Amino acid sequence: MRGVMMYAAGDVRVEDREMPTIVEPTDAIIKLAASCVCGSDLWPYRGVDTLRRARPMGHEYIGTVTEVGADVTTVKPGDFVVGSFIASDNTCEICAAGYQSRCVHAVGMGAMGTQAEYARIPLADGTLVATPGQPNPELIPSLMAASDVLGTGWFAAVAAEAGPGKTIAVVGDGAVGLCAILAAKQLGAERIIAFSRHADRQALAREFGATDIVELRGDEGAAAVKALTSGYGAHGTVEAVGTQESMWQAIKSTRPGGHVGYVGVSHGVELDGLRLFGSVVHLHGGPAPVRRFLPELIQLIWDRRIDPGKVFDLALPLEQAAEAYRAMDERRATKVLLTL
Ligand SMILES: [Zn+2]
Repeated sequence: MRGVMMYAAGDVRVEDREMPTIVEPTDAIIKLAASCVCGSDLWPYRGVDTLRRARPMGHEYIGTVTEVGADVTTVKPGDFVVGSFIASDNTCEICAAGYQSRCVHAVGMGAMGTQAEYARIPLADGTLVATPGQPNPELIPSLMAASDVLGTGWFAAVAAEAGPGKTIAVVGDGAVGLCAILAAKQLGAERIIAFSRHADRQALAREFGATDIVELRGDEGAAAVKALTSGYGAHGTVEAVGTQESMWQAIKSTRPGGHVGYVGVSHGVELDGLRLFGSVVHLHGGPAPVRRFLPELIQLIWDRRIDPGKVFDLALPLEQAAEAYRAMDERRATKVLLTL
């Protein structure tokens, strides 16, 4: 089967890889309907994360179950399924509390390399959620989004305590930030302030529910949010970038007593204790427990109440994965769908 490998920073190739097989009785094999490139795949692509050796790429996936292990009971061959970037048993105490991304048996899907024709899904019963039926092709991008960016944006909005009457600020106008805007709107936020400098992303932010756009960054950006909120700051802020500047921008945009939902993969963030002490904000984030939200998100997509697939502004065949990475690296695309 064909699949994506990264050999070094900037070196992405599509190659023949070994067909995955059932290893554990709790595994399933899926034939992917689509895959995509994640913003976090750009960290090794840009050399920020060092690659020690060539590795398969991809952790987002939707597709059709082709085979299941002997212990799998909740999905069967032929089912169309969505899963998240961390496989989880969905039964341990951490999962039961809604934090499946830190399941005691968690398996990172990055190692499975889902930018490929087929993938092995560990802990299939706890990880995969079947759609109500076979999806129409136009639902594929949105279901793909549910696998990571929508679920992550949704968790960030929940962690920022988005809800009726709330003002929510969103730092980061990539796919996750845009999905967090969509989530905040669905959760009933009254006002949504999006930080963005890109006209096309600003337009999608407004379509997803942003009421205000701030083009300033850092302390100036946070000051702009304060100015828009009678000097208070947002009730909650989503941080969807993962840098030192974006983290403080989020904290300083938030009023004392407010909530920061941080989901940008942290790179070089160091928080000064005394400044944090003085901020009096709740910090809640990390790798999103997408599995918690999947049943609800799949249904919203199925009922055509949300269209998060709009974050994909480029679709390319899997064979052109190298161009997909380049387009995202050069910011010619927000997020690329890999078609199969
Ligand atoms: Zn668990």
